[in-house]
Amino acid sequence: MTVSVTGATGFIGTRLVQRLHADSHNVCVLTRSKSKAETIFPVKNFPGIVIAEEAGWKDCIEGSNAVVNLAGMPISTRWSPEIKKEIKESRIRVTSKVVDLINSSPQGVRPTVLVSATAVGYYGTSETRVFDENSPSGNDYLAEVCREWEGTALKVDKDVRLALIRIGVVLGKDGGALAKMIPLFMMFAGGPLGSGQQWFSWIHLDDIVNLIYEALSNPSYKGVINGTAPNPVRLSEMCNQLGNVLGRPSWLPVPDFALKAVLGEGASVVLEGQKVVPAKAKELGFPFKYPYVKDALKSILS
Ligand code: NDP
Repeated sequence: MTVSVTGATGFIGTRLVQRLHADSHNVCVLTRSKSKAETIFPVKNFPGIVIAEEAGWKDCIEGSNAVVNLAGMPISTRWSPEIKKEIKESRIRVTSKVVDLINSSPQGVRPTVLVSATAVGYYGTSETRVFDENSPSGNDYLAEVCREWEGTALKVDKDVRLALIRIGVVLGKDGGALAKMIPLFMMFAGGPLGSGQQWFSWIHLDDIVNLIYEALSNPSYKGVINGTAPNPVRLSEMCNQLGNVLGRPSWLPVPDFALKAVLGEGASVVLEGQKVVPAKAKELGFPFKYPYVKDALKSILS
């Protein structure tokens, strides 16, 4: 199979490309920066991978069986009005380009599958409600970003199978929220972040990569699929488990201001969560490797 991937140089994309390449699939890395992509996927380790900046995306997409769309400006930053605009527009711009290129590809050589990222931010935040794929969208800024992002992907022609993966907080080595949380957690001896009562809908990096990988080839994976582990936890539980794995006491709360200093307004992703369950993935029988946060953290940090 030949797969084109946007956001391939990011936290999830890098692991996905490694996996596809290891399994002898052809990969086109669709990037804004060829030189950056070449340092992540050096030709000696990744022979045969095609790296294309925007001018080359058309040829890559036309020759692909499937496209994975992960690109977007990181949200864990300080949010100025300009940055908020780019968080939304970067996703819509790239998704729109990918959808236009798929729709205008000649029949016969066009991709038949689009797996496009979105986020659990779609549901808004709540300490009490449980969200599955049928739950309505929230009314905050991130919910609006996700709705427009998904709405753009939904413009792909109906004969292309679309899987929209609403991704939770991805836990993995060397990246994502965990890499930013750990130093802070260590500094404050590791207590809950904020009130601790907020929900934390997480997924291990291996599981989100496996879910995307499965969605590429399994025709049952279509429509919205929550990319979260089956056992979301309250943040206090997450911090307890993190404390245990790191061998740190977890009694002193990490103050909101410290987290905001590191993550800016993007801290809302951690400070105001939502309990999201992967109803569709369970129905499809997706085999989660890490259903429990304790095992996920152990695998990442030990
Ligand atoms: P990363 O931030 O690690 O990577 C995203 C990639 O998007 C980058 O490698 C970059 O690729 C591209 N990109 C960055 N900024 C821009 C921009 N301004 N315009 C266009 N492209 C840009 O993301 P992750 O791998 O962590 O996540 C992948 C997707 O999944 C993202 O869209 C994210 O919002 C979503 N998601 C991730 C979660 C997580 O916990 N990691 C949780 C929920 C959703 P290049 O430079 O090669 O063009």
